[in-house]
Amino acid sequence: MSNEGVKDRAAAVAHSAGGEVARSQERKDRRSRTALLLAAWLPLLSGCADTAAPPAAESFLVHGATIVDGTGNPGFIGSVRVAGGVIADVAADDGDDALSPTNGEPVHDAAGLVLAPGFIDTHSHHDGGLLDELTALAVVSQGITTIVAGQDGGSRFPIADFFAALEATPAAVNVASYAGHGTLRRQVMGDDFRREATDEEVAAMESLLKTELANGVLGLSTGLEYDPGIYSSTDEVIALAMTAAASGGRYISHMRSEDRALLAAIEETIEIAERARLPVQISHFKLAARGLWGRAEEILARLDEARAGGLDITADVYPYEYWQSTMTVLFPERDFTDRAAARYALEELVAPEGMIIGRFGPDPVLEGKTLAEISAERGTDPVTTYLDLIAESEAAEEVGRDGGESIVARSMNFDDIATLMSWPHTNVSSDGGLRGAHPRGFGAYPRVLGRYVREEGRLGLEEAIHKMTGLAAVHMGLAGRGVLQPGAPADLVLFDLATVIDRSTTAEPHLVAAGIERVWVAGAVVYEDGAVTGALPGKVLRREGR
Ligand SMILES: [Zn+2]
Repeated sequence: MSNEGVKDRAAAVAHSAGGEVARSQERKDRRSRTALLLAAWLPLLSGCADTAAPPAAESFLVHGATIVDGTGNPGFIGSVRVAGGVIADVAADDGDDALSPTNGEPVHDAAGLVLAPGFIDTHSHHDGGLLDELTALAVVSQGITTIVAGQDGGSRFPIADFFAALEATPAAVNVASYAGHGTLRRQVMGDDFRREATDEEVAAMESLLKTELANGVLGLSTGLEYDPGIYSSTDEVIALAMTAAASGGRYISHMRSEDRALLAAIEETIEIAERARLPVQISHFKLAARGLWGRAEEILARLDEARAGGLDITADVYPYEYWQSTMTVLFPERDFTDRAAARYALEELVAPEGMIIGRFGPDPVLEGKTLAEISAERGTDPVTTYLDLIAESEAAEEVGRDGGESIVARSMNFDDIATLMSWPHTNVSSDGGLRGAHPRGFGAYPRVLGRYVREEGRLGLEEAIHKMTGLAAVHMGLAGRGVLQPGAPADLVLFDLATVIDRSTTAEPHLVAAGIERVWVAGAVVYEDGAVTGALPGKVLRREGR
């Protein structure tokens, strides 16, 4: 069947349902007003959580879209019926079982657009500030409908409080979380963390982790390149990973190095998978040093070998050549006066022109400037300037002022990213935040679709969607999610493959992407016409089989 025929039929259906569409718009407006009212009143009500169910009980059809169902199977032109917040039916438009509206059912004409499961962001920092911005524009405007928080060794503690807050005042999107190793370490060791933990301390961390697991975290996350995780031994991490494994949890890691010691960090990750016997995911996989560029295939071969040996090792990747972190992350020995280490970082890892100050509490005027620019302004060489900035940040912290700092730094190349992303066991993530300095917070998913799929052809459409949905769900243990099939939650994104692209940049990181037409969570529209609707149907997703 030709596309023309599909369009004609879609137009006819849309026409015959025209009155219904208008009425359905009215109903929808009423529903989202109700949702807003409920959201406003909910904190005042108690024991009435049932009244806050998302306004999605009625059914509707999305008609004539190219349906890419998240499994990796070829797309087809078809329609989807949503009822009660769940996908009720999916059918090709040219088949005997083609769907047509019944009983004045509203119809969304989606001819020419792609309909996919909502994206599942397996490495997100969008939970930061989420309770103050429940509509989560950065998230829903990318087509993301589920975020997985608690990354890099840092999580809300105790997680039960965060989950309870999200259930009292739901967000637009679903939220799952890991328990952070660094968070547990801080609870047990306080400020005395610059050493290996004792057996008693590890046991105390295990006990806290068990509680977090019982309350529904997906497993354990580590940030072994950061304080306080950097001071842990591999045995400490394995002990905690085994605790996660015993409860059916998994392990996700910002590894000990992403640059000079990447290969050793991968070996440590494989050892953890081998000894703790649980699914292991490498976070924001990258080759962040010149000396590593071009070696993606070789590194993936090592992971394939580990997988062939029976280990479940997977990864996520975000589509940018630059990362965001702290200035101090490039000093694995934690000596921030070490000129040789600073010189190595600026020669091998991040050029002064490629290091942009994202945040600098002691002197916010520097935000947005590169290290090269600041160096020229101050008349000091880049190594000195870099060490000075760290010293200024630390000095501010010491006297109780804002010493917070972050950088956006260019260390990767497109080819490596595309190769890592193409690995069959890699899913897409954003690593982004609601108001971060890195454009990934608003742009990661549209960037993959626009740049890697449409412009560069490095991923097929179905492959990319699979990596954003079904595969991501499998990697997080979120059963029954990330697929556009009957019975799955109606978390959906409708986008235009011809125009979808990120618009956020390092200069303007909060610009919403183009081409994301409409996003539903549990059957409620959370984003359309470039704006959030105010609907707040998100759920807390706790680990299955607790
Ligand atoms: Zn990280």
